[in-house]
Amino acid sequence: LTQKDDYFILLLGLDNAGKTTYLEQVKTKFTANYKMMNPAKITSTVGCNIGQVEIANVRLNFWDLGGQEELQSLWDKYYAESHGIIYMIDSTDRDRLEESWLAFDKMIQNEQLVGLPLLVACNKQDLDDCMSVPEIKKMFNKSAANIGVRNCMATATSALTGEGVHEGINWMKECVE
Ligand code: GDP
Repeated sequence: LTQKDDYFILLLGLDNAGKTTYLEQVKTKFTANYKMMNPAKITSTVGCNIGQVEIANVRLNFWDLGGQEELQSLWDKYYAESHGIIYMIDSTDRDRLEESWLAFDKMIQNEQLVGLPLLVACNKQDLDDCMSVPEIKKMFNKSAANIGVRNCMATATSALTGEGVHEGINWMKECVE
């Protein structure tokens, strides 16, 4: 048995962005590793869904934190332990884009997250009439000063079809290890 290096990835975003589905997709994409998981470790506790995948010598542990407004105060408790951030956006939800950005902007200002790699996943790109990645970036770039110097990527994803999931996770793995 080889020793795995453990890394903790925050999976953040508003409720309904697709975090739970994305995590399922991640597990599916890395099936061989999923098989090796201890089911006892993937129980979801109140407002927090945990998943893990193993890629080569690395184990990525995901914390899908509840997106509901009343749970956002809990996000902070996980920040100190984390190595990377995936922020999920529902690209079809124009009405909540600003709300999503506000939550993002608050999160990204946290001192404990300074310099951590950031993947902005513009999700639900399989749906017609979704906002484009550049359109979403325009809003999120208002946080450029707070994003600061770090590995940062915005991608088109579909947690439903799996588009962009493999690439995003591999990118994150390369960043954290
Ligand atoms: P969460 O609240 O962020 O965990 O979001 P969920 O994973 O529960 O997804 C919310 C809803 O959006 C569900 O009905 C999902 O099936 C749907 N959904 C999530 N990702 C996608 C996607 O990429 N494309 C489409 N069409 N639907 C999605």
